[in-house]
Amino acid sequence: MIPFSPPRIDQKIIDAVNETLRSGWITTGPKTKLFEKKLTEFSSQKATLCVSSATAGLELMLRWFGVGEGDEVIVPAYTYAATANVVEHCGAKVVFVDSDEDFLISLKAIEDAITPNTKVIIPVDVAGFPCDYDAIHSLVSRPDIQKCFYPSTKEQEMLNRILVLSDAAHSVGAWYKGKRAGNLSEISVFSFHAVKNLTTAEGGAICLNLPKPFNNTAIHKTLNVKSLHGQTKDALAKSQAGSWRYDIIEPGYKCNMTDIQASMGLVELERYDTDMLVRRKQIFDAYKEAFSACEWAQLPIYETNDRRSSYHVFLLRIKEITEEQRDQIISEIFRREVSVNVHFVPLPMMTYYKNAGYSISDYPVAYDNYSREISLPVYYDLTDEMVKTVIKAVAGAVEEVVF
Ligand SMILES: *Cc1c(COP(=O)(O)O)cnc(C)c1O
Repeated sequence: MIPFSPPRIDQKIIDAVNETLRSGWITTGPKTKLFEKKLTEFSSQKATLCVSSATAGLELMLRWFGVGEGDEVIVPAYTYAATANVVEHCGAKVVFVDSDEDFLISLKAIEDAITPNTKVIIPVDVAGFPCDYDAIHSLVSRPDIQKCFYPSTKEQEMLNRILVLSDAAHSVGAWYKGKRAGNLSEISVFSFHAVKNLTTAEGGAICLNLPKPFNNTAIHKTLNVKSLHGQTKDALAKSQAGSWRYDIIEPGYKCNMTDIQASMGLVELERYDTDMLVRRKQIFDAYKEAFSACEWAQLPIYETNDRRSSYHVFLLRIKEITEEQRDQIISEIFRREVSVNVHFVPLPMMTYYKNAGYSISDYPVAYDNYSREISLPVYYDLTDEMVKTVIKAVAGAVEEVVF
């Protein structure tokens, strides 16, 4: 069976983790600090805070911005649950919007959904292809829309418009107009979960790019304290001779990254551009070449003049099929010993959100994208031979079910 997305665990990763385990320092410490520095260099944001997951990072930023009861946060219906769940955690209202044919949040749908209660928009770089951030920023800065923003915290007053919080869980290393994901909005959050392009087993990073008069270095410090119980000194600082005394300045959270995680991330990041992205692009190109010969295949866009994907997952769609046919095709692919997946079941179809009153009929493009979509395996250790097996299995399954 060809698996869907195993992590790349080779001797280099094992050695790095071993070295950290033996170093005597396994929680947040020098490796985490170094990983933050390298991430900042990699995508050129102003500061980076590593955390325990993208979910924790998104929630921390909503709470930092002061999102709570009575506020609305615009989220695409077509995403993973994390993007919306964090809004629920804060007690704010999730406002789902539809997507476009390219799987990304619809600008028109955002515009229609903005109200005087809107505090944040969370665009998602689905499959690693960046959203049109210039267009989203132009929209939130449009005088008539900015006039309807009613700040209720110091941070909201300073930004004085809707916050664009990028869910960049998939897009580490992607490009948009000469800039990298992490540097495309005032705040972006990466995921280093086991199935993501760059993994630390579990983990995430908050990329800070806030405009003046915000001080990103100072905010990094604030968030660091917020991510560790509101404690004024982290474990490493406390461990220095005579530095035992600390204070708690707020009831903070607990979502720091460990040096074990960071040591994996450092290995992954160093070879990410030259090795990981190169291999992923080869696999994307092989799928594109094979399926562009098939009448029934609708291929994802992953490179344009001004955008380039991080090649996270290959979102193939089959033309003119029903959701039931798609499910049958997936069964047939599995029968041929190949694992595939669906990204994503739109959130209004999930029990919790359905019971909360959302209906998938309000998101016709998200439903259409979902109902015909099959995600193909893309990972470093997927060989050319295996890619051929995947292509054969998919083509065979489609022919079996559709023709
Ligand atoms: C994986 C994922 C997340 C959550 O990442 P974690 O690091 O597991 O918290 C958020 N958004 C999207 C779109 C994801 O795919």
